Amino acid sequence: MNKYFRDHYLIMGIILGVILGGMVGSFLPELGIKLSFLGTLFLNALKMIVLPLIVVSITLSIMKVGNLGSLGIKTLIYYLITTGIAVFIGILVVNVIHPGDGGMVLTGEMPDIVSSKEGMSLVDVLLLKFVSPNLFNSAEEFEILPLIVASILFGAAFASLGKQSQVIVDVFTILDKAIMKIVHWIMIFTPIGIFSLIAERIGIAGGGSAVMELAMELGKYVLSVVAGLFIHGFIVLPIILLLFARRNPLEYVQNLGKALLTAFSTASSSATLPLTMEGVIDEAKVTPKVGRFVLPLGATINMDGTALYEAVAVIFIAQSYGIELGMAEMVVVFFTATLAAIGAAGIPEAGLVTMVLVLQAVGLPLEGVGLILAIDWLLDRFRTTINVWGDCIGAAVIDRIESGNNGT
Ligand code: ASP
Repeated sequence: MNKYFRDHYLIMGIILGVILGGMVGSFLPELGIKLSFLGTLFLNALKMIVLPLIVVSITLSIMKVGNLGSLGIKTLIYYLITTGIAVFIGILVVNVIHPGDGGMVLTGEMPDIVSSKEGMSLVDVLLLKFVSPNLFNSAEEFEILPLIVASILFGAAFASLGKQSQVIVDVFTILDKAIMKIVHWIMIFTPIGIFSLIAERIGIAGGGSAVMELAMELGKYVLSVVAGLFIHGFIVLPIILLLFARRNPLEYVQNLGKALLTAFSTASSSATLPLTMEGVIDEAKVTPKVGRFVLPLGATINMDGTALYEAVAVIFIAQSYGIELGMAEMVVVFFTATLAAIGAAGIPEAGLVTMVLVLQAVGLPLEGVGLILAIDWLLDRFRTTINVWGDCIGAAVIDRIESGNNGT
């Protein structure tokens, strides 16, 4: 695809897609649902390419970086710190706004998605997810963490073979180029895909006024999540980008507009990964071997938005039940929300499921999830956008620390 077209017309097309999708979903919800096959096609195309993309980019990156220890540890520390900051903001905001004070109707119903996870432990959420006995099953289930671990191991093993593995480096370099070509082809359809995904989702919710009503019903809770995400995404992360990556946030966000809007419409960091990599590496000029490692890992474990949301949601549920959480419990929420976000997969509404861990840790009823279930699909879009934005900023910061590159 011509680069000029990609940079200038595609983003306008996507913005138009968002607006038209919003209008069709709001005013012609049935048409929005009928046209949903376009969005499904787009999403399937992204998912089709994402697994080969992850395997090839991580293996290639590890082969080229050589010193995985340094890059890996810096990346993990960065991700932990920023996720921690996000949870902290969430805890502050929900304690200031106190959204659970308004006499909520407590349904007492436990959604299936949550009841099936009752008794889930940290070992299940984190440890057991790292290694899979069958990588093909994991690929089929779209479980990405074991694939990342296997790719890191293969990359390190190839690197240890020295010159013997040159042929693999060459093959993977060509595969990487071919995959990015396909990503560019898929990107041409982004405006149509996004149009359809948004029209369908608003259509399913019963049109624009129904969505507004729903948002108003849980107004203060929605406000708390969105305000927290806003502070983290628009203030904290840009300051980190400016100070530690020495990049201009406005320029950086322009390079990533397509990825961020795709994150919003798919509610999946993993499905958005092809566009995230294209924006960060091709357009914002982050060093490829850094971006190829930091971004797939980030799409899977770095979820600032999810972590913040989990803290807000759990404290909101406590407030709605009239349970006042003390300082010690807030600290427990802080740590478990961070871990639950790391354990959440980059797929729609994964954060809602791992929230069970946080609720259990502070002894809250799991039925509390019933309070926030109806609005979760909408908040998922906001938090996924911040998840992806956090990954992009992470790539720029690690790149500057690792190789001194700030894109100039
Ligand atoms: N949908 C989010 C993501 O893909 C995860 C979540 O449910 O919070 O990043």
